[in-house]
Amino acid sequence: MTILKTTKELIAFRNSLSGSVGFVPTMGALHDGHLSLIKKSVQENETTIVSIFINPTQFGENEDLDKYPKKEEADLKICSLARVDAVFLPDVSQIYFENEPLIIASNLADKFEGEHRKGHFNGVLRVVLKLLNLTRATNAYFGKKDAQQYFIVKNMVDTLFINTCLNPCEIVRDKDGLALSSRNVYLSDDDRIKALKISKSLRTATKLIIKGELNSNLIKDEIMKELSGLEVDYVAIVDREFNEIKSIQISQSIILIAAKVGTTRLIDNIWV
Ligand code: AMP
Repeated sequence: MTILKTTKELIAFRNSLSGSVGFVPTMGALHDGHLSLIKKSVQENETTIVSIFINPTQFGENEDLDKYPKKEEADLKICSLARVDAVFLPDVSQIYFENEPLIIASNLADKFEGEHRKGHFNGVLRVVLKLLNLTRATNAYFGKKDAQQYFIVKNMVDTLFINTCLNPCEIVRDKDGLALSSRNVYLSDDDRIKALKISKSLRTATKLIIKGELNSNLIKDEIMKELSGLEVDYVAIVDREFNEIKSIQISQSIILIAAKVGTTRLIDNIWV
């Protein structure tokens, strides 16, 4: 496995390749959710590149940039065991410049995560655009866990004619249902028990839908009941354009939850 620290090295590595290239962008502290994306890429492409970069521009002023978990050695081991071909591990100075044009996310970014994390998606697009330009990936792999991020990146790729196919991947959960996240390490034992209310409420919503209940307000009320005790940022039911909908349409809808457990902000969702 090749470790690439500079953009120059990444460009040279990319230029040496023929055949399909799969790319998995991450911020590290890799878990089985990341690994599922990596495995898919390795399976579907001749070469796989993983990036590990804690992107400062997607963190708000009061967010956890300084304490975001770093596990470089373990991450490299995971990538190597998964047969990743190259890991791109740049410093901030490799990626950002004093004078550079900025990209602004479409109005898909005005609500939900974008409303609660001002500027977050502009930072995400800024780094993803650079990484897609550097890797010229045939396929890039994103988790459905960050559903709004996936659609905002897809909007950029489609409208800026970026020649990469995006692959949304299923959410990987712990046995108890908690969606895996690098931020789960912040949860105390007590927080973790409270955090389970989030995935449990999504399972309740699924059961209601299976029984034939499609009314969004009713489903949201049931979810809110189960989330009692958590500081809920939003519960929303949206279509694949992220417009809120009054009634669930099967295969076209996503139920979104964002809530704080203690000081940790968690997001989860289910695509129905
Ligand atoms: P991050 O390192 O948090 O920026 O995540 C890198 C990629 O992994 C993103 O596309 C995430 O959506 C994806 N990801 C994070 N957690 C999970 C999970 N539990 N299941 C599937 N994909 C995930």
